[in-house]
Amino acid sequence: MMGPKQEAQAALFYEFSLEDHVPQDHLLRSIDRFVDLNDIRRYLAEFYSHTGRPSIDPELLIRMLLVGYCFGIRSERRLCEEVHLNLAYRWFCRLDLSDPIPNHSTFSKNRHGRFRESALLRHLFEKTVAWCIADGLVSGQRLAADASFIEADANKQNSTPKEDWDRSAIDLNDAPRAVKEYLDVLDDAAFGAASEVEPKFISHSDPASQWTAARKGPAFFSYSTNYLIDTDHSVIVDVEGTRSIRQAEVGSVRTMLDRIKEQHDIDPERLIADSAYGSGPMLGWLVNRNIKPHIPVLDKAGRTDGTWSRTDFEWDPENNQYICPEGEPLKQFRRNYSDPNRKPTGKGVAKYQALKHTCQACPSKMKCCPKAEVRKITREEHEDARQFARDIAKTKQYKTSMRLRKKVEMLFAHLKRILGLGRLRLRGPCGANDEFLLAATAQNLRKLAKIFPAPQQTRKA
Ligand code: SF4
Repeated sequence: MMGPKQEAQAALFYEFSLEDHVPQDHLLRSIDRFVDLNDIRRYLAEFYSHTGRPSIDPELLIRMLLVGYCFGIRSERRLCEEVHLNLAYRWFCRLDLSDPIPNHSTFSKNRHGRFRESALLRHLFEKTVAWCIADGLVSGQRLAADASFIEADANKQNSTPKEDWDRSAIDLNDAPRAVKEYLDVLDDAAFGAASEVEPKFISHSDPASQWTAARKGPAFFSYSTNYLIDTDHSVIVDVEGTRSIRQAEVGSVRTMLDRIKEQHDIDPERLIADSAYGSGPMLGWLVNRNIKPHIPVLDKAGRTDGTWSRTDFEWDPENNQYICPEGEPLKQFRRNYSDPNRKPTGKGVAKYQALKHTCQACPSKMKCCPKAEVRKITREEHEDARQFARDIAKTKQYKTSMRLRKKVEMLFAHLKRILGLGRLRLRGPCGANDEFLLAATAQNLRKLAKIFPAPQQTRKA
């Protein structure tokens, strides 16, 4: 039998509890148990005036931002609408049915103002890492690092070729925030100082972003988000925003390793990364820190013409010489210098060579140096560390590490596809860093919620 037609009838009184209407297995219920914002009022106190109108509760703004980043709601205007309509979002934000939602412009003021000045977003991120450590998700032994490009909020139409770019013409009194930030980070190792090479195009709206064509496809302006993760449970232990060039990305790993040591006393046994991180100085830095580099070595010493390459020569560290396949030594110096300043320093690139008359009479010359009179070999300053990494690459653990490395890439895929961070909404290095910190916080919170879901209440009979 067909029931009566549903008519909208406004009741005079409702008995309604948000608590009863949010499902027990809702993701936000699990996340809520790991969001501890009790200290943020104290943390932000000095950034508020003691006079004037009372502000919107910063805890509410942070909870709304977390909803946005956890569920891929990228627009602040849409976030306000969603929180207005969605009961679970209201519950998470501690808003009752009749409580008003802050205006979207409030976010902009706080994100660019107090939250940034107080480094609140980093504080929140570090707290999620501390939760993960306390809950046993981070052993801190096997860490993996990688970087991913995130498109900046900048377009080619609003850019200038590098030949026409004149930094000195920027009027500081009239410049937008992102342009002032660009000038501020010119000497920063993660941005301006990472390379002297100017990108092909420079954006007017966000000049610190990097014009990059590294992906197969059209070039675009971007920043790089750099992750350092613990491979046990793919927890992000640190995150850093940089310019999208290799030097800046490699440098950020050092910054992050130093920071996690200071913040969480994490001393990893190994660092897993791809060949972009396998330069001599980086491997040397890791080995000096007693971190095993599970990283493919960047090696250009191999030969393609079938002649013997450097690996065919045996290194004799005691005598500071190479031994060629014919048993002859290749030395850096053949004299004993009385002046210590003229002795090998161990820095920079060292050159080793055999004796000319030995090579000339050698039966293997055509296999060794067919076009040269004598065989020469160069040895980089960090060759010991490079050899250490090459030896690690022959082990079973290295194969495991290369599988674990994929975990960082999966986090980047999740970041872009599920959390919708394919393009930034905030401009400038600070805007990029803020977005990366919030996204990493959201990913860690979702991880905690997945591994430790909220306990389900048993249904009453
Ligand atoms: S050519 Fe010189 S360096 Fe090469 S194998 Fe012969 S002796 Fe050794």
